[in-house]
Amino acid sequence: MRYPSGLVQGAVLTFVLLGMQIIAQTPSSATNKERLPIIDMHMHTGMPHEVPPGIPAICRPVPCEGEGHATVDSKELMKKTLEIMDRYNIVKGFLSGVDLSAVDQWKAAAPKRFIASPFIFKTGTPASEELEQDILTGRFGGIGEIGAQLNGVLPNDPSLEPYFAIAEEHGLPVLIHTLGIGPYMPHFRSGAGSPLLLEDVLVRHPKLRLFVENAGYPFRDEMIAMMYQYPQLYADVSTISWVIPRTAFYDYLKAFIRAGLGKRIMFGSDQMVWPEKIGEAIEAIEQAPFLTERQKRDIFYNNAVYFLRLEDNFQK
Ligand SMILES: [Zn+2]
Repeated sequence: MRYPSGLVQGAVLTFVLLGMQIIAQTPSSATNKERLPIIDMHMHTGMPHEVPPGIPAICRPVPCEGEGHATVDSKELMKKTLEIMDRYNIVKGFLSGVDLSAVDQWKAAAPKRFIASPFIFKTGTPASEELEQDILTGRFGGIGEIGAQLNGVLPNDPSLEPYFAIAEEHGLPVLIHTLGIGPYMPHFRSGAGSPLLLEDVLVRHPKLRLFVENAGYPFRDEMIAMMYQYPQLYADVSTISWVIPRTAFYDYLKAFIRAGLGKRIMFGSDQMVWPEKIGEAIEAIEQAPFLTERQKRDIFYNNAVYFLRLEDNFQK
């Protein structure tokens, strides 16, 4: 059926104005359901290694001053994190921790909120056979963060192979720390974080649903090459939204957007023991002057919906 063009134009204009009104009515201070939903692809029940209570948040590059105070008690951290998730309408979080009982507790407290996943800090823990059982029983819905780089282990190390094989077989999302920066730990190696090292893994496991922390920061060109070449590869922007200078974060994110990868970048907070950083991470995306509202929605929600196969909730 054909409509008179004036009518169509009027309808389009009304729709656009309505859309603008909706955007204008969503101030950053809005709470809960007033805000559009967010999926946080990078959350933790704590740190993979011990940190003293109350220490300020990490920052780079030194010299710099981190803000906030660490909440190291897992229950307290969970309470604060859930409060902030409510405040910002974070409807789902990809949650991992080294302490698997803490992951269980968080999931039990908010079963629909979290995709529970083991943090792989030392390869072999948990053992792949145990992990497969936990996947079959529904305990875990993902694998990783794989943080083997923190111990100097390369992403293509044979010891990680069973995890990728299980994830591919069961169709689970996998988060990996493959980037140039990380905690100051004796065995951490920046060189073990080159995204090019993922190539072996992606060739061996073409159906693997892998996403890379911080889009491999600061290995921009390597990461873009990998994402162009391997369509199954996604990335989060998490810690870099609050650990490094905002200018550096924007330069990096903008490069991926300009490269046409805006549909494969997902929001994460990587709050660790500083739950207040979740809000800061969200604001960093909201305030990015080069992102359209549509691109922000994609990063905050739509891309993760697609990656996690939650299409029923897809927001047009
Ligand atoms: Zn992390």
